[in-house]
Amino acid sequence: MICELCGKDVTFLRKVTIEGVQLQVCTECAKFGIEAKKEAPKEAATLPIVAQRLESRERRGKPTDVYDAGGKDELADDLGKRIRDARSKKGMTHKELAMKINEKVTVVSKVETGEMRPDDRLVKKLERELGIKLKEKVPETLAGKESKSGSLTLADHIRMQKGNEND
Ligand SMILES: [Zn+2]
Repeated sequence: MICELCGKDVTFLRKVTIEGVQLQVCTECAKFGIEAKKEAPKEAATLPIVAQRLESRERRGKPTDVYDAGGKDELADDLGKRIRDARSKKGMTHKELAMKINEKVTVVSKVETGEMRPDDRLVKKLERELGIKLKEKVPETLAGKESKSGSLTLADHIRMQKGNEND
């Protein structure tokens, strides 16, 4: 048997890949190549895919997807409380307010308890009737920009916890 690389006549040949070319070579020449049977383990092939998915998941999870950058009007978190406070200041019952804005009593009470998110039309009616604001501008800093130096990262929290343990 002739080695395809050096031409030596040997008793047995090994299948190797040298610089991308499959050759049948002698034991000596086989040292320069990669044995054909030793394929890359499956794990090595799937790892980059896992890494890619993790990366894209991270991108998806960023708050930039939740808010549009630049700030916009959002319903106030405490909108139910604002309505209740304004209503009781005016001495109105659920029913009286509901009648004034031409809505059902259940709608008013559900919005106050946060059970229901009012649509724009209802928000405008409530704002006008009660003389309050139920929407507020979301500041740009909270609207998905990269965290500023002042805010804590997960690493900071871990460091702080470790610090406390040592105390
Ligand atoms: Zn050889």
